[in-house]
Amino acid sequence: MMTQLSLEQKKAKYGEDLLEWYFHIQRNLPWRENHDPYRIWVSEIMLQQTRVDTVIPYFLSFIEKFPTIQHLAEAPEEEVLKSWEGLGYYSRARNLQAGAKMVMEQHQGQVPTTKEEVAALKGVGPYTCGAIMSIAYNEPVPAVDGNVMRVISRFFALEDDIAKPSTRVKLEKLVETMIPEGQARYFNQALMELGALICTPKSPSCLLCPVMDNCEARLQGREHELPLKSKAKKARVEYRAAVIVEGQGEHEGKVLVRQRPSDGLLAGMWELPHVLVEGDQAALYAEQLKEQPLLGQAISEEMHKRHGLLVKPREWFCDQDHIFSHIRWNMRFFLADSSEVQSHVGEDVVQTIAHTTAQTAAAAERTYSTDQIDPTDHIDPTDIMQNVTTEAKLVAESTEDYRAITAQEINMTPELRYIRKEDMSTMPFPNLFLKILQNYWKTKGV
Ligand code: SF4
Repeated sequence: MMTQLSLEQKKAKYGEDLLEWYFHIQRNLPWRENHDPYRIWVSEIMLQQTRVDTVIPYFLSFIEKFPTIQHLAEAPEEEVLKSWEGLGYYSRARNLQAGAKMVMEQHQGQVPTTKEEVAALKGVGPYTCGAIMSIAYNEPVPAVDGNVMRVISRFFALEDDIAKPSTRVKLEKLVETMIPEGQARYFNQALMELGALICTPKSPSCLLCPVMDNCEARLQGREHELPLKSKAKKARVEYRAAVIVEGQGEHEGKVLVRQRPSDGLLAGMWELPHVLVEGDQAALYAEQLKEQPLLGQAISEEMHKRHGLLVKPREWFCDQDHIFSHIRWNMRFFLADSSEVQSHVGEDVVQTIAHTTAQTAAAAERTYSTDQIDPTDHIDPTDIMQNVTTEAKLVAESTEDYRAITAQEINMTPELRYIRKEDMSTMPFPNLFLKILQNYWKTKGV
């Protein structure tokens, strides 16, 4: 019969069994080649929310491109984001670079060695701090992420809600007392490995588990029930209309992209222009035939207001969803012509725009006001160009003024750029737009 162990004995046994197992099974991962704190820092940031297999090629090319903290700190942000393209959660890359700059400015280019200084680096939370302190410096600092919370909650059959920050703090204190002396480096990695390979969220392999003998969840038959985790708030759905504006004339063969602001969601990255669709238009989003002109109208209006461009959506290209942690974008993409199309092939249209009288503009404006549109009306997309002018100062201007202002505004809008496929090799795009653009170039045989 098995003897009951005290809590302290259980913890000691846990450390022994776990380390013995880890020394046998540990994987050869590129960031484990040495204990360089920079490499550990980069790998831990990349591994957040991302699988090991996905991270390996990113890690290797990132380290090749930015072999030292100095290289990373001095690189253009766009280059860093480009190296992160496809990994998602791009604020991680920006924060990593900001942290590298702090190391250059405040620590003479060396990752600091105290917990307080490491924790003060931009983008370094308690988990990453614990990983750097323990793996690089073998300091007994816990590194508790979702995997570790699951493993420990099961082992002790804890009933705390792991979605709560207070549970994380409690578990950090507990894990700190479990680290075998002088083994912090391996103990923390072993815990992570156990969570990744054996004590997985949905199907824990208890029979292969090195700590199964004393695991309370297994002994109580509750390994599938624990840990307890309250449901995260549902992501907010946003409907968005986007355009692939095909260049004409000197921009033939190119498409228009814009750069996002330097802070906020997907900061600094490139995208296809798009607009949030609200109210009645959002309700019509799913009705393929009816909403297209309305969505086209929304994006035309936005492009004009924001960038001084007259954009005319021509045909539906595709629908695509994109999920962030807190928002879900339901996007509809249209192929579109830009104002240049009108100047080159539709002289009469430009003339019409330029000489629209104030009276007709006012009348058109009433039609254009979105809250007066009857959503059951079918609005011909070819009306959009004229409708757009009703918003604008362009209405009363001559053709020449119109062209001059449009050109000037394009040049003065640094976040807009016409690009070819090959230009994408240096410009960071979020996955969503990367995918759409790749599909688009494919349809063009590029
Ligand atoms: S015995 Fe099962 S539930 Fe317990 S730690 Fe191991 S894998 Fe997880």
